[in-house]
Amino acid sequence: MATQISTGTSELRDITKMERIGAHSHIRGLGLDDRLEPRANSQGMVGQAKARKAAGMILRLVQEGRIAGRAMLFAGPPSTGKTAIALGMAQNLGPDVPFTMIAASEVFSLSMSKTEALTQAFRRSIGVRIKEETELIEGEVVEMQIDRSLTGATKTGKLTIKTTDMETIYELGSKMIDAMAKEKVTAGDVIAIDKTSGKVSKLGRSFARSRDYDAMGADCPEGEIQKRKDVVHTVSLHEIDVINSRTQGFLALFAGDTGEIKPELRNQINTKVAEWREEGKAEIIPGVLFIDEVHMLDIECFSYLNRALENELAPLVIMASNRGMAPIRGTKIRSPHGLPVDLLDRVLIVSTKPYTAADIEEIIKIRCDEEDVKLTDEALKVLTTMGGQTTLRYALNLISTSQMLARKRKSDKVDVDDLRRSYTYFMDEKRSVEWIKMQEGSLIF
Ligand code: ATP
Repeated sequence: MATQISTGTSELRDITKMERIGAHSHIRGLGLDDRLEPRANSQGMVGQAKARKAAGMILRLVQEGRIAGRAMLFAGPPSTGKTAIALGMAQNLGPDVPFTMIAASEVFSLSMSKTEALTQAFRRSIGVRIKEETELIEGEVVEMQIDRSLTGATKTGKLTIKTTDMETIYELGSKMIDAMAKEKVTAGDVIAIDKTSGKVSKLGRSFARSRDYDAMGADCPEGEIQKRKDVVHTVSLHEIDVINSRTQGFLALFAGDTGEIKPELRNQINTKVAEWREEGKAEIIPGVLFIDEVHMLDIECFSYLNRALENELAPLVIMASNRGMAPIRGTKIRSPHGLPVDLLDRVLIVSTKPYTAADIEEIIKIRCDEEDVKLTDEALKVLTTMGGQTTLRYALNLISTSQMLARKRKSDKVDVDDLRRSYTYFMDEKRSVEWIKMQEGSLIF
């Protein structure tokens, strides 16, 4: 059961992540070789070699389980790949290690307190790999009877399967019938039923027709075993919290709106998980929590972070900020990147630098491939220059808008004129600031 739940939520998380990272869909990893040296253009990554290498080193420590409870900060100007590198790390971590991504401003919401939002983000980033012993019944289907109600809404039935030494009759619920239908199970098939979850899987056709079965007896290669198997699945601590929360119930996981969870429940879960660990039934997998625009957190959130990082069950926290000296929210103190010094003190800082024109050109090419857009050579040059003068992100945004304009004039290639027109339709940050200055008096300030 828990497996299904975890799959559902990770899909859900993937969708939310997908929406947020559309712009990063070309990133497939950090693009490092075995010695953690950055390849020039690999896994969608270009340039920013030092930061990528540093990220790779930290990743290695995470994989070796040596860096839980630490924090790192990507600091650098806008559009220099801080988010892209964090996502590259996530891709290299593999699917079993939880990676949670939040923008600091998401912590401020009406539906829950700041610390609750942070606690949930932390617990989403800690995986629990649970080993469960489950009993599998394998056997050949002799007969299936399905009774449908008149409306067809409720289905029940009986399944007779034969193992070497016995015939087992199962009462089928509609879920199991659906599973059978999905697998297209018919008499003569060899199937496995997971007794804990009711999951049905088809293993193949029996060599012997069911009526010849007795004659084959123990020689029958399939259909003879009842055995125990270990099933391993990974869920996050947050998922365990929600599933066990009486007020929420696991459906809340699908709605994405989990509300506040009581601290007593979390304590119980922590105790339970500690027990499982001692009994060798579960293993903790510290994952990664990425907090973008971290300067948007306030002093209370920072003190929460400081405390949470001390906890035995802490993930690796990666933060990103494009601010230099900035006020710490909630105080009048100015500090590097808007972070209190005591937090800065425990953080590994990795800086990102503005890209060279050659890097910008490569990244534009990668994005064009990703979005299936063709640029003329001249347009590529112009867009690269634009990227240097505005931001890389602005240049990348112009790719799809210019393609629309090119299509309108029935061309399959974006030309300089399409870019020029896009540039007049959409402002970059600098022009937007100038425009606001010009509008003084007519806009509300
Ligand atoms: P901000 O401070 O504004 O949040 P950022 O440093 O997080 O910016 P990103 O959002 O990572 O910047 O980068 C902007 C765009 O450029 C994204 O589409 C990203 O995928 C792409 N990009 C950035 N760096 C690289 C890189 N080294 N290789 C390939 N693509 C990159």
